[in-house]
Amino acid sequence: MIRALWFMAKVAVVIAIVLWFADNPGNVSFEWLGYAVNTSIAMFVLGLLVVLGVVVVLYKVWRGIRNAPGSFRRYSRSRRRERGYKALTQGMVAVAAGDAATAKKMAQKADGLLNEPPLTMLLSAQAAQLMGDDKAARHYFHAMLERPETAFLGLRGLLTQALKQGDRVEALALARRAQQLQPNTPWLLATLYDLEARAGEWAAAEGTLQAAVQAGAVPQEEGRRHRAALLMERSFEAERRGRADSALYHAQAAYELAPAYVPASVRVARLQLRGGHPKKASKVVERAWRQQPHPELAEVYREILDNYEPLARVKLFEKLHAHTPNSVESHVALARAALDAQLWGEARNHLTKAQELQPSRRVYQLLADLERAEHGNEEAARAWLIQAASAPADPAWTCTSCGAVTPSWAGLCGNCGAFDSFDWKQPSLALHLAGPEHAASNANLPTLAQATR
Ligand SMILES: [Zn+2]
Repeated sequence: MIRALWFMAKVAVVIAIVLWFADNPGNVSFEWLGYAVNTSIAMFVLGLLVVLGVVVVLYKVWRGIRNAPGSFRRYSRSRRRERGYKALTQGMVAVAAGDAATAKKMAQKADGLLNEPPLTMLLSAQAAQLMGDDKAARHYFHAMLERPETAFLGLRGLLTQALKQGDRVEALALARRAQQLQPNTPWLLATLYDLEARAGEWAAAEGTLQAAVQAGAVPQEEGRRHRAALLMERSFEAERRGRADSALYHAQAAYELAPAYVPASVRVARLQLRGGHPKKASKVVERAWRQQPHPELAEVYREILDNYEPLARVKLFEKLHAHTPNSVESHVALARAALDAQLWGEARNHLTKAQELQPSRRVYQLLADLERAEHGNEEAARAWLIQAASAPADPAWTCTSCGAVTPSWAGLCGNCGAFDSFDWKQPSLALHLAGPEHAASNANLPTLAQATR
């Protein structure tokens, strides 16, 4: 509508001009280059307009010719970039699809076409990794360190390589450098915590773990347990340095953080006992037992009650049993106390109940002990031992990472070096760590022995 009005307005102006010339006729005469020109004013104006039009067209042609090389350069440069980004995209798709050969080809092509080192270096590194060419990948990652915008990615690549090669010292140094660049990256905090813990840097690991929990890289509950394990290691370390008070302090902190965490309650009870506080020690065992009956708690309880008469000990184990009457551990612990006190009937009663609830090697071995002690019946004892040989294994501290079994809880696995990986469960492997009480000393030199069960 507006266009139509505009067009009509233009037509009206032209008509008005033509009419004006028709109403105001006149002549123009001049001499130029020996020609005498005599024409009407309207023709003269028309002639001028034609000449002006020709000049404009000629100027445009001349300018086009003059700018042609630049335009061509611009055109070819944009074509080049387009092809470069296309190669980059194809390369990234190839990396995602695991197509190493195409990824490498596209990385080289993109590198030649684009002046974007941050992007092409990353693709080249990924392509090299896919090809299994770690050396080339490392070269690209190192090159990425030179530029601020790619330094973090370069460090990540080198860190991944170091972890893959099992070089934890190098990995820890790289992780620390990366953390200086980006302090709150969740994956980095989780990795750094793990590396620090594996390196036995307990205090540093505790700080990093806290940051990792805050960043959401480690779930709250898991973080609490890891922290308790770190405090346990600090307690072991204090003990090695002859600092009994500090050893108890850290064990107690672990116990308060996770009251159901058996290694902590066992340790607090044992340290209290060693410190000459058997009452406090038994309180810890009794409280922990109500949460989680466990053979190590029973063992510590026996140590605490070592000076008691066997019958008095049975009475106290009966009290313990009363809190958790349906637990296998409860029956086994009481049966042991009864065996010591030569209360054969009570021992048999609880062993039978344990066997019904969860038959295992340990229960059959105790039944064999009972046969020998009560009747001197070697044949019956042997029959139980035969059953023991084919019975399911008892739970033990088993590494969730490598399956190794350790006789007593440790923060570090002496076989694979994982931290806080020991769970109380039935082992699936016959791999036993000949264990000192804590694995700090055997972390570097794993001593393995095949089980002779
Ligand atoms: Zn392990």
